[in-house]
Amino acid sequence: MPDGSPAAPPLPFIDLDAQRRAIGPRMEEAILRVVRSGKYILGPEVGQLEKDLAAFCGAPHVLSCANGTDALALCLMAWDIKPGDAVLCPAFTFAATAEVVAWVGATPVFVDVVPETFNMSPASLEAGFDTAKRLGLKPRAVITVDLFGLPADYDAILPIARAHGAKVLDDAAQGFGAHYRGKALGTFGDMTATSFFPAKPLGCYGDGGAVFCNDAATLDLLQSLRVHGQDNNDKYENIRIGMNGRLDTIQAAVLIEKLSVFEAEIAARQKIADRYNAALADIAIVPRVPEGLSSVWAQYTLRAPGRDRARIMAALKEAGIPTAIYYPKPLNRQRAYAQYPVAGNGVPVSEQLAAEVFSLPMHAYLDEATQDRIIAAARRALAAG
Ligand SMILES: *Cc1c(COP(=O)(O)O)cnc(C)c1O
Repeated sequence: MPDGSPAAPPLPFIDLDAQRRAIGPRMEEAILRVVRSGKYILGPEVGQLEKDLAAFCGAPHVLSCANGTDALALCLMAWDIKPGDAVLCPAFTFAATAEVVAWVGATPVFVDVVPETFNMSPASLEAGFDTAKRLGLKPRAVITVDLFGLPADYDAILPIARAHGAKVLDDAAQGFGAHYRGKALGTFGDMTATSFFPAKPLGCYGDGGAVFCNDAATLDLLQSLRVHGQDNNDKYENIRIGMNGRLDTIQAAVLIEKLSVFEAEIAARQKIADRYNAALADIAIVPRVPEGLSSVWAQYTLRAPGRDRARIMAALKEAGIPTAIYYPKPLNRQRAYAQYPVAGNGVPVSEQLAAEVFSLPMHAYLDEATQDRIIAAARRALAAG
């Protein structure tokens, strides 16, 4: 935009309304169908969505639930993770990843990430197992996170976890839909949890989540935990402590429609990421997807080491381009989590990334003209920052 022309209105960070317009009246009809059916709790759409999700990623079994945090908690409850147990997870992630560990009374041990992918460092994971054992804790599980939509390094992490007898739970809240060496997320490790929070790559119109697992016995256990620990064959007999963790039928109906366009949306996100990368690689550190992996670009995250991030973000805001910092503090620096151990000699990469990263608008309905406006503003801001 040449100087002196009227300022274009600010962009939304994620334009959910553009998606609603693109999907059209189908989704609103699906919602009304549920309203008219009266089957608000565990209606037929819930089972249909679980089948569709399993088919989408190739996971043997899927259980929908109320949100991504409950999805993670259900997995830890199914494994009976408890006080005295350690669960290793990255320090550079959303709080829910570690929160669920504390919920069940276990100890999160914070592991560092690698700067190239923002994902868990295998070397720091090894150190984390040593730390847990040194503290007299029993390391029971590792929670990988597919941060910003990119799968974690499963070829390296799975054998380390196995060697220590620990389960692997994939927190795919940001990565569902991505692939790692030809296999879709949802099929790695022992269980996978995801979130359908509206701003996630696959989001509903409220809260939602799902768990992916490998065998029918685990699914049965998860089904019981999701409804107050009931006996699945006798709902008046509660056989364990569970929760109310069901997905609303209305949200399942929304997700069935959104899942039907998800593949095309992922392709659109990839094209945008490619254009951003080509236009910005000479002026910032752009996100690179390792060979054989794909990302769903939950966030498009830049680094500008040694430059003034606040100034860059302020210049972008001035130009009507919203940005966000995911995440400004690693979990070990946050008050609720500062008491928990970190792996080995600390998590220096997480600390550094927290000081450097910022994310540009990314969603499937960004047209090329808008992308170019974002790119031009980002180049100006980075050059001046
Ligand atoms: C969003 C998110 C969650 C939690 O999902 P909710 O549906 O909001 O409970 C957990 N882990 C990660 C990495 C997330 O991004």
